[in-house]
Amino acid sequence: MKCRNWIAQTAGDPRRYACGKTYSKPTISTQKFPAAKRTSAGNLKKRSPQLRRHPGHGAVKVRSYWETDNWKTEAAELAERFPQLTIRPDRDRGGITITGRLPVTNDVEYSVSIELSPGYPRVVPVMRCDPQEVEPLRDRHINEQSGEACLCVRSELRLHWPLGSSIAQFIDRLVTPFLDGQFYYDTQGHWPAERQRLHGVPGIIEAYRDFCTQLGNDSLETIEQLMRLLARKNNPKGHELCPCGSGGRLRNCHADAIKQLRHVIEPEHAMLDLRDCFPGSAR
Ligand SMILES: [Zn+2]
Repeated sequence: MKCRNWIAQTAGDPRRYACGKTYSKPTISTQKFPAAKRTSAGNLKKRSPQLRRHPGHGAVKVRSYWETDNWKTEAAELAERFPQLTIRPDRDRGGITITGRLPVTNDVEYSVSIELSPGYPRVVPVMRCDPQEVEPLRDRHINEQSGEACLCVRSELRLHWPLGSSIAQFIDRLVTPFLDGQFYYDTQGHWPAERQRLHGVPGIIEAYRDFCTQLGNDSLETIEQLMRLLARKNNPKGHELCPCGSGGRLRNCHADAIKQLRHVIEPEHAMLDLRDCFPGSAR
């Protein structure tokens, strides 16, 4: 037994336990991480980097899409299907540019430039024609300022080119039909009527009107409700009202149709469409 006096003296001392035992630092074995060894030349031999205990806190290098096997497969398919096109990396943007001439008929072809941004394939490629060949006109579905081709309305893009499709499919399904349209314009003086979407807001509404046929109601009110629903990041719950206007719960009404539409129309696109068509409705 220690005397009271001794406890009082050691009580505040962090190096001693109350029982009087001295606290000693735990010893850390250095066996696992041997210190740097001297080589026969007397120089300190560096430990291999894998042995470092803290492998650095710097940014992890993210592999770009262009280094993945997916892109290699896409590029191989493109080279096989369209050997006349050139693929080159765009060092400034970190993207890829595809240029060359694409045939429309046996003796007619157009120059194209297709830019893939570093965000590809999430970000849709931008296509341009040679302004010498194809005059940048709204009636030719080309943005007169940027020269960008308007290949289809935003909401229908993933219908034509679903996520996971290749760049060769992008050319087949969007670029080639667009060039067919240019050839038609060159020969007939106007865009082929059967493939025409109206410009701007009416064109967007028209596309949604087609989507809404699945809901059995293509009124403007239904289109607005549908856009609002598609613009949401999270899936709607079954107890919510169906946008078709029946007054029924989604789960008892058009849940399957909505699920399909959410699969082909991206929320960001639906939000942009909502802003364009119903500016008061978009937050
Ligand atoms: Zn419904």
